[in-house]
Amino acid sequence: MTSKELEGKVALVTGASRGLGKAIALELGSMGANVTVNYGSNKEQALKTVGQIKSLGTDAIAIKADVAESSEVKAMTRQIVEIHGKIDILVNNAGINNDVLLPRMPDKAWDEVMNTNLRGAYLCTKFALRSMMDQSWGRIINISSLAGIIGNAGQANYSAAKGGLIALTKSTAREVGSRNITVNAIAPGFISSNMTEKFPQETKTEILRRIPLGRFGTPEDVAELAAFLSTDRASYITAQVISIDGGII
Ligand code: NAP
Repeated sequence: MTSKELEGKVALVTGASRGLGKAIALELGSMGANVTVNYGSNKEQALKTVGQIKSLGTDAIAIKADVAESSEVKAMTRQIVEIHGKIDILVNNAGINNDVLLPRMPDKAWDEVMNTNLRGAYLCTKFALRSMMDQSWGRIINISSLAGIIGNAGQANYSAAKGGLIALTKSTAREVGSRNITVNAIAPGFISSNMTEKFPQETKTEILRRIPLGRFGTPEDVAELAAFLSTDRASYITAQVISIDGGII
């Protein structure tokens, strides 16, 4: 999508220093939205994303905030509203994995994954909703996962967080639908990124065998869908989980 149909909109994309978040931030920027690039630690990459968005002719800023920390998320959303006056689009993308078979899982691996992937989305939604409710317009897009639908061995923590994110999506959509705010989840399958690069080669080969389209997805594939859900053309879609996984079986 390249038209400027998001001109005048203000978007916050969490975890936008790289991977899917970066691609989504670039796509929203290319459609004219002012984008806040949130990141956890990688300032250099976040500023690079900001520079790329600005070169598309729209405004962007980077804000460091741990999405799992209430005070940091509150400060981030306040800063965006101070600068731009509102938040129209929130993409809850920031996420981590720490894969361990359940009997051996350290509690820390459970807590960290749940905190970033689920608590982070809860906090960002809570604080961004204030502005959306005031203006009776909003788009919230939660980046869930195929693992949140069907589960995955070795990813009980990640799958539980992503499944929880689907439930958060549906509940929030029901709460705020009357305010003209849509809330949807995207469930990517296997997308080429830092997260999937870490998989052993034999796991990648096995996964590829199960994908009818014969390739991993790209961050841009996901960005196209997130961008569409951000527009007025998607105004009657809410409480949905949309898979983007090459038809994996
Ligand atoms: P990635 O390349 O590892 O990027 C993760 C992003 O999240 C980075 O920008 C990172 O910031 C940020 N982040 C991590 N913890 C954070 C925190 N506490 N606060 C703020 N930002 C934080 O991951 P990805 O593959 O692009 O995945 C993006 C999302 O898509 C995740 O939610 C993931 O679960 C989901 N997903 C990915 C796939 C896939 O195949 N890749 C499939 C399904 C779902 P820093 O760079 O500053 O650390």
